[in-house]
Amino acid sequence: LLVAEDLHKRFGATPALDGASVTVGAGEIVAVMGPSGSGKSTLLHCLAGIITPDSGTVSYRGQPLSSLSDSRRSALRRGEFGFVFQFGQLVPELTCLENVALPMRLDGAKRRDAERRAAEWLARLEIDDVAKKRPGEVSGGQGQRVAVARALVTGARVVFADEPTGALDSLNGERVMRLFTAAARDSGAAVVLVTHEPRVAAYSDREIVVRDGRALDLERAR
Ligand code: ATP
Ligand code: MG
Repeated sequence: LLVAEDLHKRFGATPALDGASVTVGAGEIVAVMGPSGSGKSTLLHCLAGIITPDSGTVSYRGQPLSSLSDSRRSALRRGEFGFVFQFGQLVPELTCLENVALPMRLDGAKRRDAERRAAEWLARLEIDDVAKKRPGEVSGGQGQRVAVARALVTGARVVFADEPTGALDSLNGERVMRLFTAAARDSGAAVVLVTHEPRVAAYSDREIVVRDGRALDLERAR
């Protein structure tokens, strides 16, 4: 579904990715692990087309992202990819409900329909009570669940999540992982998630360890 080959990316003098290659299949849950600063977030951003690597290719369904027009690439990101950022990135001016409804609104959904579905997702994550609050008025864990709802609400084919459970207690961490697992098992979505927690990685089919900007693919023994 998603193939990245020999990605290189520098930020000034810092090589963040130094020849990383990754393959992700439909319905697969892949955990990306590795030390702080090893390039995990950068890898995820390249895979999702949020940043462009200096060299190397990322292909989605056999199509290199670099060959797509900007508008086609944004449409892909909105329609087929869902992203949970490491540092929230909710729109501060919108309520939590409006944040979750946003991807559907950008795709032309009616406000009422989008907000009804958004409310269902907030309920599923047990954060209905934050619907009318703005991201600045909710806890870190609540905000993280709003971001998870926003990534899953459109039925994305690939869900990227950068430490989606970092601010969550174990009950809510497991709730989020069950929703990711359901997206993979029931809808065949691919899930690529960065985590430091072995308990979270245990939900994955495969582990990728990033070290010094290179990705090592470990088949999960089970
Ligand atoms: P963590 O586990 O702490 O989140 P990470 O594995 O996600 O770390 P990255 O965020 O991918 O690491 O960063 C890889 C390297 O690239 C680091 O040395 C980092 O300082 C650098 N880097 C990342 N983003 C930028 C940026 N926008 N500008 C400059 N340097 C950056
Ligand atoms: Mg990171």
